[in-house]
Amino acid sequence: MRELADGVWQLGGFPPNAVNIYVLGDVLIDAGLGIDRGRILRQVSDRSISGHALTHAHFDHFGASHAVCETLGIPLWCGAADVEAVERGKMVGPGGMLLPAPGAGAHPVARALAEGDEVAGFTVLDTPGHSPGHVSYWRESDRVLVCGDVMWGQNPFLLRGGLREPYTHLSPDPRANRDSARRLAALAPALVCFGHGAPLRDPDKFSAAVARLPGG
Ligand SMILES: [Zn+2]
Repeated sequence: MRELADGVWQLGGFPPNAVNIYVLGDVLIDAGLGIDRGRILRQVSDRSISGHALTHAHFDHFGASHAVCETLGIPLWCGAADVEAVERGKMVGPGGMLLPAPGAGAHPVARALAEGDEVAGFTVLDTPGHSPGHVSYWRESDRVLVCGDVMWGQNPFLLRGGLREPYTHLSPDPRANRDSARRLAALAPALVCFGHGAPLRDPDKFSAAVARLPGG
């Protein structure tokens, strides 16, 4: 793991920055794909992890959550509107339909997160759109943001390309996601930790990409 900011670590993976998993304090944020179980358990083996929180219930973010929570004996938390999907091992598609979440096991959610909640010294922000219960984690004191897939730092399918919004067909409500992106850009985060892509320490670049989104 590499430390990105005080108490903020990014797990190593291959290819680097493709599917990101973070540790904030003693809380694991996201759990990648089902196949990421091994790298998570290996990399957190020398520390005490007390909880596991999601940015959103997509199969590339909670794929290994069930296995990791069972193995470590820790509770799972996610945004309130994503609880049902996680507990059924599914994800919310267009029109609110529950779709299969390949490789992701169903797991009970111990705590439904809402705007203003605190997780490992970070404030929970409701940032819906890419999933109904998508949340971001924000620490005002040093302006660190974990934004999940509100914006992609890099296209996770092509493993290249610049900062962009996720493919709109992957978001049940792309317009809400753009509103969430504008809200996050207005925070002028000094460090953005994406679900996909390298950490970004350039608030102007982040806000410029968000400003190019339609409907602003
Ligand atoms: Zn993703």
